Amino acid sequence: MKAKNLKLSTKFSLAIGLILLTFCVIFSVLLYHHLKDRVIEDAHEKADIILTQIEAVGGYVKGTLRPRMFNILPRIDTNDEFIVEAMSTTHVSLEVMRRFNQNLKEYVYKRVSDNPLNPKNKTDSFHSRMIAYFEQDRTKTTWRGIIDLENQKYLVQVRPIITEHGCLRCHGDPSQAPKGLRKKYGEKSGFRWAVGKVVGVESVAIPVDVTLQQVKSVAISTFIFGFATLLFLFIALQGAFWQLVSKPLNRLAEVFTGIAKGTEPLGQELPVTTSDEIGELTASFNLMARHLFNAQESLKENVETLQSIFDGISDPLALVNPDCSLAMTNSAYREWMSQGSPAVFGKESHELAHHAGILCPVCFLEQAQREKRAISGYWKAPDGQHYSTYLYPILDNHRNVARAVHYVKNITDRKQIEEQMMEAEKLAALGQLSAGVAHEINNPLGVILTYTKLLLRESAEGSQQQQDIKVIEKHAKNSKTIVENLLSFSRHNTTNKKAANLNDCINEVLLMIAKQFEKDKIILEKNMDPSIPPMVIDQEKMKQVYLNLFMNAKQAIVSGGKLTVTTRFIPEKKQVEARVQDTGEGIPPNIIGKIFEPFFTTKKTGEGTGLGLSISYGIIKEHGGQIRVESEPGKGSIFIISLPVEEINVQET
Ligand code: ADP
Repeated sequence: MKAKNLKLSTKFSLAIGLILLTFCVIFSVLLYHHLKDRVIEDAHEKADIILTQIEAVGGYVKGTLRPRMFNILPRIDTNDEFIVEAMSTTHVSLEVMRRFNQNLKEYVYKRVSDNPLNPKNKTDSFHSRMIAYFEQDRTKTTWRGIIDLENQKYLVQVRPIITEHGCLRCHGDPSQAPKGLRKKYGEKSGFRWAVGKVVGVESVAIPVDVTLQQVKSVAISTFIFGFATLLFLFIALQGAFWQLVSKPLNRLAEVFTGIAKGTEPLGQELPVTTSDEIGELTASFNLMARHLFNAQESLKENVETLQSIFDGISDPLALVNPDCSLAMTNSAYREWMSQGSPAVFGKESHELAHHAGILCPVCFLEQAQREKRAISGYWKAPDGQHYSTYLYPILDNHRNVARAVHYVKNITDRKQIEEQMMEAEKLAALGQLSAGVAHEINNPLGVILTYTKLLLRESAEGSQQQQDIKVIEKHAKNSKTIVENLLSFSRHNTTNKKAANLNDCINEVLLMIAKQFEKDKIILEKNMDPSIPPMVIDQEKMKQVYLNLFMNAKQAIVSGGKLTVTTRFIPEKKQVEARVQDTGEGIPPNIIGKIFEPFFTTKKTGEGTGLGLSISYGIIKEHGGQIRVESEPGKGSIFIISLPVEEINVQET
């Protein structure tokens, strides 16, 4: 784990632990060196004392004992005798130290020479080097150091032995030396010393291994004890720190994290138990949390208001991100998405849209991003509904498209109104034309019929002339009917609306045509809904509509078939629906869109004017209703009329 990932308390603990350890190590090392120096200094002092003591003994032998012996021993004068025990400085010194060693065994005293009388006092390699050392630098009077002897460390102090005049009596010319001495040690070694030369050294070695080991133990014990004490102190401090600082801070951090993750409620208040910095921090946190909570609540409210406004718009509306993902949608948009409509952004809207032949939302967004302006498109759905689709880009500070509002509007009603207006304009123009033509023809037709009547009265009964005049009269009457029809189509005739029952109205017409239908072997079937409420209608005009439909049906059936008339009340729509169904030849798809147009007919001249359905359409529209047809060639046709049930204002025009 990296150090920056550690918790603050862990980092603090580690840092303090490291400091304590370093402190203990440094302290112990310093203590060790200090004690070691002290021990070495002590040893040197002791060695100094011993060597000074030995020097004093040597001085006594040389200065007092040896001259005295020469006085009291006459044979000595003749150089015959030499009492080693009383006259040899080396012997006396070594003997003193032997006795000294009886009590303090660890001290090693040596008095050695490169050229001794007694071979036992011959130098070893260390002492030989020491003689050379003092010989080389005559200013040096002492050498101090630590050396290894028989695997033990010794502190050694060495002093040089320099030949004096007095020494030559025994160590000068061997022939002059006392006989007793020559007899004891021979004449090979220990003679011909030169005055002022370093002839030997004396040394004291004190073992320091044990003492140094003890010093080391003291240092280690100090380290362990010190470290343990400091560790205990540190743990106690850590405990206090945890209780007073870390724990409340951890709790704060927990709540902070919980709020950020959404697992902790934002509106909560942490108890402020102290008035110290932690207490102040907790109070500040509570204040901040309260502010955040209030801000969040008002944000929520705003979002809800925005969403309800958004959802309140009944047309599909969405906020789109540049990557085509949806930031916000209203319910109409979501419904379209769930239905897999290609007009909105969705999973495969690109492909679907191209398949449905509409400007796909993805391309739409790309265009808006490119052109940085609002764009719109038009789409006619397969179900005949018309839609306008808009994309309004929202630009950021750098004039890039940050988001876009996508809006789809169903404009079917507007389209229908436009179409109806066009139709109405066309009809009005036609009406004016028809009215003019009809007026011009009506007068001459009146004259023709008047003169025909006169001629009939004057012609002989049953004569050829009378028959010819009757043919003229018949065709003139036919023409008059057409002209009257034209006039009724073009003029705003008087409307006479009053409360009536539609079933009664239809029954009257059926009664009128029953005989003719019977003759042509056409069965009449009625399914009248008795619950139809009274409606405000122009009965005569309504009869005209149904008569026209029944006559068209009869002409389509020709001979042998069925005409079914059905009425039904739809309370939830406040509508009455009347269906006129025949088993006739049906209407081919290529002309079905034209049958309500004036003067459209498929009938022979004289049989149809092409005005029946257009007049019926006008009457039904005048009543606020709708008329439509469903037909398939060979399977008959159904004319469906729906009329509103609410009260229609009775007006005379
Ligand atoms: P007309 O009956 O004088 O031709 P209409 O406006 O009443 O004029 O009818 C227009 C055309 O509609 C008819 O010529 C006919 O082709 C078609 N049509 C109307 N009603 C039916 C029907 N029930 N079955 C088949 N075709 C029909």
